[in-house]
Amino acid sequence: VTTLPFGRHRSAPLGEVPTSYLAWLVRTVRLSSGVRAAVAAELARRGIDAPPPAPPAARPVPPCARCGAAGYSCGWQQTRDGRRQIHAACTRCGRWLGFLPQVEPHTGQADAAASAAPILDALTRLEALGVELAGDGRAVWFAGDDWRRVPADLQAVVRQCRHTLAGMLGDTRRKAAAS
Ligand SMILES: [Zn+2]
Repeated sequence: VTTLPFGRHRSAPLGEVPTSYLAWLVRTVRLSSGVRAAVAAELARRGIDAPPPAPPAARPVPPCARCGAAGYSCGWQQTRDGRRQIHAACTRCGRWLGFLPQVEPHTGQADAAASAAPILDALTRLEALGVELAGDGRAVWFAGDDWRRVPADLQAVVRQCRHTLAGMLGDTRRKAAAS
């Protein structure tokens, strides 16, 4: 980014935009990461450190669109690239209510619900229930209709380590075909 895409100095080369305006931008305007980085770099060139971006705000979780319940629970969900996100679910029916920003109180709620040993927990509890996991090496799912028998807190434990489990299980469809 070498010019601003909006505002009073739209299309002006960043090097010609007044310092006060650039400082105001990084302080108060919600910028895309590319524009923010360019403005911060221009400020740095002028000897001014840009403040870090404001953290995302906690946000209220709306009532469940399926059952109308207002209660929700938070849990960590593993992402494919090994990071994690906060999954919110309806406490009554389990419906997914969205991903929440990683700030309090959401992070504290997700931490409180987390299993310290999710893989061991998931495998032993699924074994006890007689529920099998299937997978393609990248994602896992409960075989057949078995998810109906898996309580919400156990589904949350599986979400916590679902890509690690997928890697451990490999492609169960290929194994089934081979046996
Ligand atoms: Zn619900």
